[in-house]
Amino acid sequence: MHNRIIGIAASSGVAIAKAFVHEEPQVDIKKTQIENIEAEVIRFDQALDISKKELGEIKDKTEASLGADKAEIFAAHLLVLSDPELVDAVKGKIKDEHINAEFALNEVASMFISMFENMDNEYMRERAADIRDVSKRVLGHLLGIETASLASISEETIIIAEDLTPSDTAQLNKAFVKGFATDIGGRTSHSAIMSRSLEIPAVVGTKEVTSKIETGMTVIVDGLDGVVIVEPTEAEIAEYEGKRAAFEKQKQEWAKLVNETTTTKDGVHVELAANIGTPDDLEGVLNNGAEGIGLYRTEFLYMGREQLPTEEEQFAAYKEVVERMEGKPVVIRTLDIGGDKELPYLDLPKELNPFLGFRAIRLCLEKEEMFRTQLRALLRASAYGNLKIMFPMIATLEELRAAKAILAEEKELLLNENIAVSDAVEVGIMVEIPSTAVSADLFAKEVDFFSIGTNDLIQYTMAADRMNERVSYLYQPYHPAILRLVHMVIQAAHKQGKWVGMCGEMAGDEIAIPILLGLGLDEFSMSATSILPARSQLLRLSKKELEGFAQKVLELDTAAEVEALVKQTYLA
Ligand code: PEP
Ligand code: MG
Repeated sequence: MHNRIIGIAASSGVAIAKAFVHEEPQVDIKKTQIENIEAEVIRFDQALDISKKELGEIKDKTEASLGADKAEIFAAHLLVLSDPELVDAVKGKIKDEHINAEFALNEVASMFISMFENMDNEYMRERAADIRDVSKRVLGHLLGIETASLASISEETIIIAEDLTPSDTAQLNKAFVKGFATDIGGRTSHSAIMSRSLEIPAVVGTKEVTSKIETGMTVIVDGLDGVVIVEPTEAEIAEYEGKRAAFEKQKQEWAKLVNETTTTKDGVHVELAANIGTPDDLEGVLNNGAEGIGLYRTEFLYMGREQLPTEEEQFAAYKEVVERMEGKPVVIRTLDIGGDKELPYLDLPKELNPFLGFRAIRLCLEKEEMFRTQLRALLRASAYGNLKIMFPMIATLEELRAAKAILAEEKELLLNENIAVSDAVEVGIMVEIPSTAVSADLFAKEVDFFSIGTNDLIQYTMAADRMNERVSYLYQPYHPAILRLVHMVIQAAHKQGKWVGMCGEMAGDEIAIPILLGLGLDEFSMSATSILPARSQLLRLSKKELEGFAQKVLELDTAAEVEALVKQTYLA
């Protein structure tokens, strides 16, 4: 239809309000010759100082309202402002070329931005957005331009923008900003992640909202289906009011399930757990009624800083998580760095295929001291709750045995020092490499549990980089090869009396859930906001019935057939 703009659903919910188009002020940066170089450098330093002060305030505000992990981005921005590579390059240009600070900054920043933008790694490409955001702030001060503050919005509004920077998003007042839509961005861009924590409906990556919408127009943002409707008719408004009310009602229904255990219609209990990145995520986990933590991605403890976290820092984080989960199971994964997750201070050489490279357990077994520090912190924290240790990216039994031997040595050393360690720490592995899935029967004898990491298992099985949009059509969770691998892994584990979880995105997918239940998956681990919808679905399913259904699904030819059959049988 003529007034519909299609984008990517970034944060669920429906919003209807007047649009406010947030435009970047057009800045014209002219090159001028400077006589007094010292004064120009001082002017640059002053602009840096004001920007640092502002960013410090935004960081504190974000920390108070959204938690420390969401504020980390501003710590990264502050680092950019203190980065000698950038600051000294600008000052060098002012001095050597006798030019004005804004021109020098714009040139240096543009050079870094295009360098980062051309890297084949999403994390590094996001650094380009950070430099753009920060340099814009400094340029604004140098040029004396007031940037319109989104914080001053005081009526119900939908923000329309090319993109929203993290500092824009952090200033949004939830009382007035009902939703937003942007031209660029994807589900994992900073603005999308922020919109989900703020629970503001959002559609990103529409390519054209700013060219089609003007301030004052009425707009509907449908963050459930990724649609923006411009100047809706009465009938469309009524339709979407209905959709919004249905979603709110649905959320209230889900909320009633917070304290329930997840027991299927025929009385089988499955565990619904949450994936977390930092202890700050626990609030959302507890509010959404998780029965445990199925994946704690510890790499975030190592990121956004300049050196490795100490044993004490790690111990404090792990202890906090197990204590706050009050005896519920907490699976903590050892460092899974590499691939798309980099640690600049480890100074590792750049690789052509980082997802197939020196990462996770491969790196930990070589950087043994770093690994031992983490294992000690984990073992010490095990005395405070129900902690399980999981090794990522295991491809061979030798890797598993080596990791387990180091763990046993560290346990022995701690016990010799009379430091308390639980004697019931289960040790498991991520099954995310096809070699391990295919030989799961061999691994099952030497682990306490498996957790299937479908995010990686799918990319490695289908040979399709999970970050590459052009091959994203091959990212098929319901492909017969993936379902067969999952089936094999569960069977192999159960034969040895071991339990199997899944912590990839597939575990929270409503089409996959009936199949996984039928295949016998014991634990489903997902982002906190997916838990209640998944519980509501599982309560209505019968495991016995799905066992037969899963066998039928395993006989199908294509992912499309699987999807159609599940939809028709269980989601109609
Ligand atoms: C996975 O690979 O499925 C997984 C859960 O780990 P990550 O997304 O952190 O690689
Ligand atoms: Mg993985």
